[in-house]
Amino acid sequence: DPRIPRIASSIRVIPNFPKPGVMFQDITTLLLDHKAFKDAIDMFVERYRDKGITVVAGIEARGFIFGGPIALAIGAKFVPMRKPNKLPGEVISEEYSLEYGTDRMEMHVGAVEPEDRALIIDDLIATGGTLCAAIRLLERVGADVVECACVIELPELKGREKLGDRPLFVLVEAA
Ligand code: 5GP
Repeated sequence: DPRIPRIASSIRVIPNFPKPGVMFQDITTLLLDHKAFKDAIDMFVERYRDKGITVVAGIEARGFIFGGPIALAIGAKFVPMRKPNKLPGEVISEEYSLEYGTDRMEMHVGAVEPEDRALIIDDLIATGGTLCAAIRLLERVGADVVECACVIELPELKGREKLGDRPLFVLVEAA
């Protein structure tokens, strides 16, 4: 697809952020390029518009940027998967491990129902721990996770293997 190289080249790499040795994939430059941003959204929408998706679950914070437009375009509801203590209503939560320590992801009770068919969206998959926490939350309430989708995959970290048999779709692979 000729849109891929433009999307890939619109992503800026910032060395040593947020700490030494990390090559941070910065999608804010993709957002500055209207065509690249639209192409990315269009590619997701083309893939998911006829898959019977009823909920797009976007992961805080960059998953919100892509998830909202996709949900609107495919006619699904949008559910934010948030950092701890941000959601005002009753939540269910899942812990997941980071390089150092753990974090927690929360979702509003009642936002997703057992008959829902979910698409999970984030900007990037590294180790896969974040997407796994989102999968667990959605499956705990009985939803069917149809697919996970990210703009960028870091294949060396083998996060894809953590997702079990849930498919992962990405636009760009980065080193
Ligand atoms: P994982 O849980 O797969 O190890 O890490 C993925 C999460 O960390 C995603 O929510 C993603 O936004 C964030 N992340 C980790 N590294 C990067 C990076 O280089 N660029 C961006 N944009 N996000 C990153």
